[in-house]
Amino acid sequence: MIELKKGLKEYAKSVGIDLVGFASEERFEGLAPEENPFSIFPEAKTVILLGKRITRGALRGVEEGTNFGDYSMFGSSWLDDNFNSLMCYEVTRYLEDRGYEAVPIFPNPPEAKGMGIPLREGNPAPNVTPNFMYSAVACGLGEIGYCGEILTPEFGPRQRWQMVITDAEFEADPILEDRICTDCDKCAEVCPLNAITGSKTVEICGKEMRVGNVDYNLCSKCKNGAFANRLIKSGKPDRLAALCLRTCVHELDEQKRVSNTFEKPFRKRDAWSIDIYDKSQYIKQD
Ligand code: SF4
Ligand code: SF4
Repeated sequence: MIELKKGLKEYAKSVGIDLVGFASEERFEGLAPEENPFSIFPEAKTVILLGKRITRGALRGVEEGTNFGDYSMFGSSWLDDNFNSLMCYEVTRYLEDRGYEAVPIFPNPPEAKGMGIPLREGNPAPNVTPNFMYSAVACGLGEIGYCGEILTPEFGPRQRWQMVITDAEFEADPILEDRICTDCDKCAEVCPLNAITGSKTVEICGKEMRVGNVDYNLCSKCKNGAFANRLIKSGKPDRLAALCLRTCVHELDEQKRVSNTFEKPFRKRDAWSIDIYDKSQYIKQD
């Protein structure tokens, strides 16, 4: 299995997958059945989480307030539906060519659970939607930052995920020990809607993280680069290009907390923001 893991990681790199992590079943024991990937394939041995970066340039038009459409394709819909789906499919083929069943999983929002599939006796849950945030931590790929999104040592908050559940048994990757979030709270300070307040401690696989309380109702009204959930109307909005998370991208770049670095800083001038009453202002950048 060491050779299979090495081969799969090399293959993943060769087809442009940026992030790959492995977790065994016991790491998911605390999860509710409707969020647990092993509910989908009970004989599986490993969850493999795969990720591709949201390029920093895909955020540029939103950061400048000049172009929102290209993020919504290159940073969101095309990344999920095309680039990431292809990477997930190729990894399932890689495993199935070697005799292991591999279940490709799209990151449907948790609000999708239970919809449209009748509950049958013996079914752990109808329409299981695995918890990707939990899985990113369980697979050793990242942490939940104060902003409430996954941060990785490579890209901070700039990535999207898909998953493969397989009956191939891989050694789990270690849980990430280092803290990426600087606890600067700038994501909360820049938010014109005051949607991030206070904090709580979230624990996953023994890893404790300080996470802000995010009011997603406010985020769904945000006009600062947040997008409505494109899959389910009632789902949480996509905040990865919003002012809070773009501020985090800049903070992690500046503090050298991420390995994907650039010649020039992300934030080049004061950031624009619009409050709930459509009043706009510019936020001074330190
Ligand atoms: S902006 Fe600061 S506090 Fe917020 S998630 Fe990023 S690093 Fe953490
Ligand atoms: S998405 Fe908008 S409202 Fe929500 S935390 Fe970010 S900036 Fe604030």
